[in-house]
Parts: sequence; structure tokens; C-alpha cells
Amino acid sequence: MAKTGLGRLADRLRAFPAPPGTKIMEVCGSHTVAIRRFGIQHLLPATVKLVSGPGCPVCVTPDHFIDEAIALARQGVTVTSFGDMLRVPGSRSALEKERAAGCDIRAVYSPLDALRIAEQEGKETVFLAVGFETTAPAIAAVAIRAGEKGIANFSLLTALRLVPPALKALMASDTELSGFLLPGHVSAVIGRQAYDFLPGQRLPGVIAGFSAEDIISSLMLLLEMHNKGIYKVMNNYPRVVRDAGNPTSRAVLAEVFTTADAAWRGLGSMPQSGLELRPAYAAMEARRRFAIRVRPGAARKACRCGDVLRGLIDPPACPLFNKACRPDQPLGPCMVSSEGSCSAWVTYG
Ligand code: SF4
Repeated sequence: MAKTGLGRLADRLRAFPAPPGTKIMEVCGSHTVAIRRFGIQHLLPATVKLVSGPGCPVCVTPDHFIDEAIALARQGVTVTSFGDMLRVPGSRSALEKERAAGCDIRAVYSPLDALRIAEQEGKETVFLAVGFETTAPAIAAVAIRAGEKGIANFSLLTALRLVPPALKALMASDTELSGFLLPGHVSAVIGRQAYDFLPGQRLPGVIAGFSAEDIISSLMLLLEMHNKGIYKVMNNYPRVVRDAGNPTSRAVLAEVFTTADAAWRGLGSMPQSGLELRPAYAAMEARRRFAIRVRPGAARKACRCGDVLRGLIDPPACPLFNKACRPDQPLGPCMVSSEGSCSAWVTYG
């Protein structure tokens, strides 16, 4: 039987020349899941190693943030969040456990749901603003709406992170990378131009969509540039990503947020890698509105999420992987999130 277009594409990737030691990082958690679901890692030439990066928002959020959210919930505040965050362990507890103990903690599908809860119930309501450039515009839009409607009992606990500064930090710490498979959704907001610093570091990048064809063709473009010593950022997702990104989303973001130094799990504090509310919206920052006291927690040394997020190890190198730490009993965020590498390795093999 004749092969399909996808079958032929897969054959081409299998046979693609690549020098020993070629190391590609897929930055985005959705790519991590798609690659493993389609089995694309098995199509790569033996000389190519594909590693995951810090592109899972739940995974890069440090323990301290969960501790802050728990401290808020214990004060009687209604804490709302995307569902994944509820299972992420903090230093001493998790939001899910606190909810079982009686705190008002609710999973919502969007920040708008959180605003509705604040409006309808009148209680102090905090939304856990976690995510990358993809999620941040919707949160910014809700902050604007809360301001316009005068909903004074709604606030945000912010831990929004930016992808380009994380890539810069990774390049500074890992000189063996051969190129980046760049995130499609984030790039739809920030645009191809946001990665213009890569060629100066002699690294190629390809913005990829999420179908098997998108990912395989993007990997081949990356390998071709690596082989030829071409350092460019290519947009292989032009049906969604523009050079300058989405001007509406960027304008909403710029109205509400400004950049600030931020701490990432595994990567530490990085300059200008996070978003904080501008002074006009600062009253909506939960850290200002409430006294949040959190004792520093001990680092969970056994969990190697930090090394997984920097692409230093594959999840099975963690001694707890799929033994003490499993999707039904996660010990670290990379096993909690559906976009976490550890979860993807267990789910798809
Ligand atoms: S397997 Fe669990 S404990 Fe190990 S790195 Fe992954 S999330 Fe952390």
C-alpha cells in the first residue's frame, strides 16, 4: 500500500542526516505531549537527542507561590485557579488538601469565571494568575473588566512568566543546544520577531504548530539549519503566527502588566522574565491587598523537576519516576500537569 504524506514525512525524518551530539529542545509543554503522543521521538535519527524545556507553566511555578495561595485560602479568601494547580505540592501542603480541609478553593476554566464568582458572591476572590504569554492576555482583559465594572473584591496572585528570557538563560547555561522547537501558541501572541536574539547566539529556531506534520517538518527544518550552520528563526506555523504577533493581545498585556524579575523552578530568578501589574492595577494584586505570611519551606531534594525543566535529564533519570511519583500520586509538578514531561513520559511511554 502506498504511504500517506505523513508516512513519507516520517521516513524523511528517520533518514535525515544529523551530526553526533545534536540536541534539540522543545520549549513548549504542548509540544512535549504531542511529540510523545504521536511517537515522534522514535522517528529521530539516533544522533539527535530531543529534550524538554521550561514550557509547562504549572511546572515552572515555584513552591513559594503555592504556599502563598494556601496562606490566602486559610484567611477565608475564595481562591480560584485552573485545575492543574490544585494538585501541585507546595512546601507543606497542596491546594487540593486545603480544599478537603474546608478552605474555599475552586477550579475554574477561565479568569472570567473567577470574576463572575467575585461579582455574584461578593466575597474576596483571588485568581491564581499562572501561565505564559498565551494565558496572560485573557487575565489582563479580566483585570480591565473588573476595573471598568468596579468589582473591588477581585484580585490576582500573579506568577506569569515570559518565554524569551527563559530561553536566554538556558542558552547561557547550556552551550550544547543545537536549536529550539519554538512554541506555537506563545508565538501567536509575541510573534516571530520576539526570538530575533537567537541568531546572535548562533542557534536556529523553528516555530511549530501541534499536528504531527507540523512537528516533523519543523524538526527537519531545524536539523537542516543546524547541519548547514544557518542561524535563523523560521516560522513554520504561518497560519497562526505573524512576524509581530497579535497586536490586540499585546496591547491588552501592555496596558495591564509590566515586566519584572521572577523566580522559576529549576532556573532560579531571571531578570525581566515575569509580569507584574502596572501601578494603575496594583490595587488588584493580592500580595498588596492581603497580609500573606509564608515561612520558607525546605527544598524537596528528591524531586528532579528543576533538572527536567532545564533539559538536563529525562524524567526516568529521577529515582522517584513512576515509583513513588506517579500521575495518581504526584510528588512534583512535572507529574501533575498534563503538559509536564514526567506525566507525558508515563502516559505515552
Ligand atoms: S518523577 Fe516526580 S519527583 Fe521525579 S522529577 Fe518528575 S515530578 Fe519530580
